[in-house]
Amino acid sequence: MKCLVLGAAAGGGFPQWNCACPGCTRARSGDPAARPRTQVSVAATEDGAHWLLIGASPDLRQQILQTPALFPSEGARHSPIAAVVLLSADVDGIAGLLVLREQQPLRIYAPAPILAILGQNQIFSALDSRIVERIELAPNTPVAAVPGLTLTLLPMPGKIPLYQENRNSVLAEPGATYAARLDAGGRCAIVAPACAEYSETVQQSLALANVLLFDGTLFTDDEMIAWHVGEKTGRRMGHMPVSGAEGSLAKLSAHAGRCIYLHINNTNPILLDDSPQRAEVDSAGVEVAYDGMEIDV
Ligand SMILES: [Zn+2]
Repeated sequence: MKCLVLGAAAGGGFPQWNCACPGCTRARSGDPAARPRTQVSVAATEDGAHWLLIGASPDLRQQILQTPALFPSEGARHSPIAAVVLLSADVDGIAGLLVLREQQPLRIYAPAPILAILGQNQIFSALDSRIVERIELAPNTPVAAVPGLTLTLLPMPGKIPLYQENRNSVLAEPGATYAARLDAGGRCAIVAPACAEYSETVQQSLALANVLLFDGTLFTDDEMIAWHVGEKTGRRMGHMPVSGAEGSLAKLSAHAGRCIYLHINNTNPILLDDSPQRAEVDSAGVEVAYDGMEIDV
């Protein structure tokens, strides 16, 4: 199985259009140690001809144009992208579907709560249901998503999309966010862009992964407040921090397989190749994803 990181950044990308935090400023200036990254998406294949997209990033058009493996190669209209799985209904997880609207046959896999949100939003009928099939996936139930590759949705602790929040409903709800488990030829990769807590259940779900792509949104829980670019903690946004005794780095450094951070917010100093925080992640044996990263699982 091969995985390609199409986009490694969290919502907003790196740099974010309206952000002047130190990292975004360096990325915007062309600093080679602050490589720009698009919003999160991963592509996976077993046969090299049929690809599964994990997440539909708002940057999907740009990501496809940067990835020759995803170019049309058969006849006048064609795409190697055979299917998409949606892990959350956040803007950075579904908006890219609109890029895939040009009368191209495709399967969309998603759990019922995310399909319901697509169904409530008329704009997604731009993907003609006669040729773009929407397939409901039950959690923990494997499906043959593309030739040679089995997909399983793993429920993760997280929260509903920001645009669905109201005063009565804020934090963790079941069915809000998922990881994608991919199995092929006895090898396993798990893509988990959002995880609010590394619980016992999460640890058991992730333990078998030969390659784990995990939520690296913020380095410290109050990072966005500290940079004056937001009022919310990471946990309030449904993401556990990288650092600290209860952070993800301590958990991932004990994981047997290869671990790679993705869904990295532009305020997170691990995006900067020369930061002490990046050195800390490096020395724990955990990698930091970048756009175009190729992973042989
Ligand atoms: Zn920024």
